[in-house]
Amino acid sequence: MKQKLNPKTVLKKGFPDKVILVSACLMGKNCRYNGGNSLNPELLELLKGREIKMVCPEKAGGLCIPRSPSEIIGGNGLNVIEGTARVISRNGEDLSREFIEGARESISGIKLEDLEMAILKSRSPSCGNRFIYDGSFLGKAREGPGVFSALLLKKEIPIFSEEELDKIKEMLA
Ligand code: SF4
Repeated sequence: MKQKLNPKTVLKKGFPDKVILVSACLMGKNCRYNGGNSLNPELLELLKGREIKMVCPEKAGGLCIPRSPSEIIGGNGLNVIEGTARVISRNGEDLSREFIEGARESISGIKLEDLEMAILKSRSPSCGNRFIYDGSFLGKAREGPGVFSALLLKKEIPIFSEEELDKIKEMLA
């Protein structure tokens, strides 16, 4: 079922002036590498009446839709920002710069004190908060944040994935 959220909707409880960053693909935007989305109806319902800002760091970094999938080789998103690991697409292109620029662009113009939290797609090389794919392109995950999550963690923004709905409910209560 298709539902629309109004990003301008004002919070009714919790932190009335604060914004929740959300991976656009979780809200049904077709920005995934394969041109599809990861719509999560339960999350959509939870966020009704909340002020959200949808972000897609890979799109913000100039990557096209669809695109070759990418994974982080040699570390996690923090290591990519530090220059000790790389984001490589399945066709062998080094997209580290695009991922870093997209992460920065996704929060440009946002005051950090205005952010309540981020809810980001699990295991993505950009958005994964606790786990990311391990660089083998075999669907295996390892611990660590993606590039966008790493940037938010450095700025001490709380991050949850769509697999942590119970924790999100507690935060929103
Ligand atoms: S970068 Fe994040 S928001 Fe964009 S498609 Fe990937 S997981 Fe979704």
